Amino acid sequence: MTQAFQKIAAIRGMNDLLPGDSARWERFEDLVRDWLRGYGYRNVRTPVLEHTRLFTRGIGEVTDIVEKEMYTFTDSLNGESLTLRPEMTAGIVRASIEHNLLYDRPHRVYSIGPVFRHERPQRGRYRQFHQIDVEALGLAGPDIDAELIVMLARLWKRLGLTDVRLELNSLGQPVERAAHRAALIAHLEKHRDILDEDGKRRLYTNPLRVLDTKNAAMQEMADSAPRLFDFLGEASRAHFDGVCQRLVDAGVDYRLNPRLVRGLDYYNLTVFEWVTDRLGSQGTVCGGGRYDGLIELLGGKAAPAVGFAIGMERLLDLWEQTLADEGRQPACEPECDVYVVHQGDQAQRLAAQAAETLRDAGFSVVVHAGSSGFKSQFKRADASGARVAVILGSDEVANRTAGVKFLRGAIEQESAQQQIALDRLAEVVGAALSTK
Ligand code: ATP
Ligand code: MG
Repeated sequence: MTQAFQKIAAIRGMNDLLPGDSARWERFEDLVRDWLRGYGYRNVRTPVLEHTRLFTRGIGEVTDIVEKEMYTFTDSLNGESLTLRPEMTAGIVRASIEHNLLYDRPHRVYSIGPVFRHERPQRGRYRQFHQIDVEALGLAGPDIDAELIVMLARLWKRLGLTDVRLELNSLGQPVERAAHRAALIAHLEKHRDILDEDGKRRLYTNPLRVLDTKNAAMQEMADSAPRLFDFLGEASRAHFDGVCQRLVDAGVDYRLNPRLVRGLDYYNLTVFEWVTDRLGSQGTVCGGGRYDGLIELLGGKAAPAVGFAIGMERLLDLWEQTLADEGRQPACEPECDVYVVHQGDQAQRLAAQAAETLRDAGFSVVVHAGSSGFKSQFKRADASGARVAVILGSDEVANRTAGVKFLRGAIEQESAQQQIALDRLAEVVGAALSTK
């Protein structure tokens, strides 16, 4: 006797997407692609695996992501250190440099796909999750920062989301950050005794991130710290004002949050997050900002850039909750338009042919697989969500006809089933499907 094979489960924090849910994801992705087209963004797809140094250099050594969240391993064939992408910006920038994308003009690009972070799994926090990543490469002005934010406001509106608010800050330029950093370190040193382990470690390496703490005991110290915003020079302020003015023009509300620093090192000037209170503690559905230094840092010709990433799981969770609150469950997608039932070998072969003809006409068709009684086949037809069943038995084979039964909609009551000539099948099915 063979020993029963022990079941293999998915890796913790990595989710399967099954047919019921995937239909909703696909619908959401269609909507997102349409929204992105509305602003001239084009798709790019980069590998999920990159050289580790792309992220250590691009994201910054002293960040949560690089310090503890990356899936890094050594390629056993050549000893190279590789990492599953924890975000998409670094890979997109790498690709734009490698293929000299910015040599003659800016590019608006997006990518949708999985990213990987070794975090403690909980609602809204997974180890494989999905981002919609949008980047405007080679564009410097506040107009583009504002456009990205307004664009997001449009997406929320299209999804019917009202409970998301915008938090905005400016991180200024490196020299301004340096001046602020000195003042901040002095402040942190004064309160050294209340710094937690992370805080002490980051005091000199990444003091700005100390302020981003979730530790309640450090809040007061963080609140009274010198604000980077107060160290901004004229040009940085003008950029920030330019963004704010355009948000006002577009009727998009925002809140200045001087503590917003974001978890990646590459940002400068504008940073923003969209936050909701409806998802518990994982309430940030989108984060972004400007990263004018990153392209040069990664070896390209200096060029400005700005972008954002939406966390898809969180956004879909919020969308679903909103729909449920309004009593609007997302509609269950039918498997097909037409379900073909059949009895007998000849009829089964005719069913396959008839289905191909219907697909030629543009319908989605499922042919019942195998053979079983009509009753159980009709049960399956009903469960498929199809609006029309096509019935083929020995009479139909002999007469070159088909039975057409309307499973849903108004016609269902009027005429339960009609017999038609086989060559009229596409026409009759089309007429049935075009009625409500
Ligand atoms: P957080 O503060 O929640 O850890 P983050 O600043 O690390 O977020 P970003 O790097 O800005 O997140 O990623 C963009 C978006 O991706 C986030 O706003 C969030 O919606 C989503 N996100 C981040 N980490 C996870 C995760 N582990 N699981 C699911 N979604 C995530
Ligand atoms: Mg994080």
